[in-house]
Amino acid sequence: MDFTSRRRKTRQVKVGSLTLGGGAPITIQAMCSKEAKTPKAIISQILQFEKEGCDLVRIAVPNLEIARAIPEIKKKIHIPLVADIHFDFRLAIEAINNGADKIRINPGNIGNVERVEQILAAARKYKTALRLGVNSGSLETDLLEKFGRPSSEALVASALRWVKIFEKNKFKNFVISIKSSGVRETVEAYEMIAKKCNYPLHLGVTEAGIPPYGSLKSAIGIGALLLLGIGDTIRVSLSSDDPVEQVRVAHQILKSVGLYNKEPEIIACPSCGRTEIDVIALAKEIEKRVAKIKKPLKIAVMGCTVNGPGEAREADFGIAGGRGQGAIFKKGKIIKWIPEAELVDEFMKIIEESL
Ligand code: SF4
Repeated sequence: MDFTSRRRKTRQVKVGSLTLGGGAPITIQAMCSKEAKTPKAIISQILQFEKEGCDLVRIAVPNLEIARAIPEIKKKIHIPLVADIHFDFRLAIEAINNGADKIRINPGNIGNVERVEQILAAARKYKTALRLGVNSGSLETDLLEKFGRPSSEALVASALRWVKIFEKNKFKNFVISIKSSGVRETVEAYEMIAKKCNYPLHLGVTEAGIPPYGSLKSAIGIGALLLLGIGDTIRVSLSSDDPVEQVRVAHQILKSVGLYNKEPEIIACPSCGRTEIDVIALAKEIEKRVAKIKKPLKIAVMGCTVNGPGEAREADFGIAGGRGQGAIFKKGKIIKWIPEAELVDEFMKIIEESL
């Protein structure tokens, strides 16, 4: 099934040079980590994200100094910048005045409706996009009382309440996120909100944890929604020493559901008693060598020639082990036998010639 044709139709939201929703490719976001506290450190981290293929970056704006450094940061980076604001509406307005492409607020923790309306007025003036974020921590007291806990229904009710306020203020340039650290609640909440409005959705499982568990949790939550056609931009929230890991995992999630067309996907057999080659070493080597190819090829590394080509007949190109003689195959058909020592070089030559 072509999941791309299932994608939910949404409004389009412009974030700097990027478009979110309305059929635009799903974008990858990352957030600068705690190490990025000064403009210099922020810029250096964003440039690393860009190198890994990040489309949109978010920085924490905890004080006026960072809000006022936005022009300086933007001069050095090449992707749109999102300012993450909590509690203080004045910081949001300052970030907007200083050219942030998008503001992320959880309106529930901004204090009151009037303050949120002041942010909306500034965003309208500068055509700044906004993310309306709702999570368990920012849920309004009356909703907590009504629903008894920060359930999916409570989160959706909160988001819809703010959607109404935004619309009353003639502000429609926004995306929505509804996050819970539970995968099940997150998926339920997004499914519900997707039926209730047509704003683009920012997907993520908040505080997913440390890898690999955090990556798996994110992959299951984000992946399930993408397969349902829900989601326009994603962020993998990971507690990792290397912040770039968020971008790498996001690529892998999009790739695994067929929604990433900027690089090849390597598939490899798990190996079994029939294995005639070192599948893991070979798959790693191929992964390294194809990293420079910016096309959505499916490449298979299989352990035996008896079953490998057939099992991976969906792959555009593949290698299968064969007792010292490796086989190269294309869409399930063996096209060449090569001594194992020359297998990788010859395989890469065939792939490159086809590009
Ligand atoms: Fe086993 Fe061959 Fe299948 Fe790999 S491709 S799992 S080696 S049968």
